[in-house]
Amino acid sequence: MRLLHLRQQVCALHARLPENHLVAWTSGNVSARDPETGLVVIKPSGVKFEDLTPENMVVVDLDGKIVEADHKASSDTASHCYIYRQRPDINGVVHTHSRYATAFAALGREIPCVLTAMADEFGGPIPCGGFALIGGEEIGKVVVETLAKSKSPAALLQNHGVFTIGANAEAAVKAAVMTEDVAATVWLALQLGQPLPIADEDIAKLHHRYTHVYGQ
Ligand SMILES: [Zn+2]
Repeated sequence: MRLLHLRQQVCALHARLPENHLVAWTSGNVSARDPETGLVVIKPSGVKFEDLTPENMVVVDLDGKIVEADHKASSDTASHCYIYRQRPDINGVVHTHSRYATAFAALGREIPCVLTAMADEFGGPIPCGGFALIGGEEIGKVVVETLAKSKSPAALLQNHGVFTIGANAEAAVKAAVMTEDVAATVWLALQLGQPLPIADEDIAKLHHRYTHVYGQ
């Protein structure tokens, strides 16, 4: 079996989605690109999270063609592969319909940067791209376009949900968890009134400190 280690990683990361209340039933998926072979490990289509195993993960090439699988690949595979082809710096992609973030997406509205945690993690607002139909690579195109104009590792898709990217799949999962966390807080703030913006230069300082200095 090819890429056993990456299959194990991607399978384990899928468990983080229901654990963090980011998905319902079979929606949502994680993929990872193996930097050596360029092959992508992704969730099988329509399999429940508790039934995912390293063995039933699907391995595809960068064009989304099946390399090794017993199951059909996730219906978002073409979009994940499009993102990997356009972004050689990215080795992880996550998609969810997490509630609070997707509420903003339903309005086609970005999540404004009104929390220091957002400045840290996203370097500005979480942008919202336009509407795209599921199935082909159209969603991937919207994600790449939307993220190109932003520092954020997360993009909302109008009327749909959230896509996040990362240097590896764990970073993309972290971005998906943080997206929902800040979306919920901003939503609560919006019930109280008009959240206060953070000045662009302060957002830049916070983001720089978090990405260059913070942590071990
Ligand atoms: Zn979706």
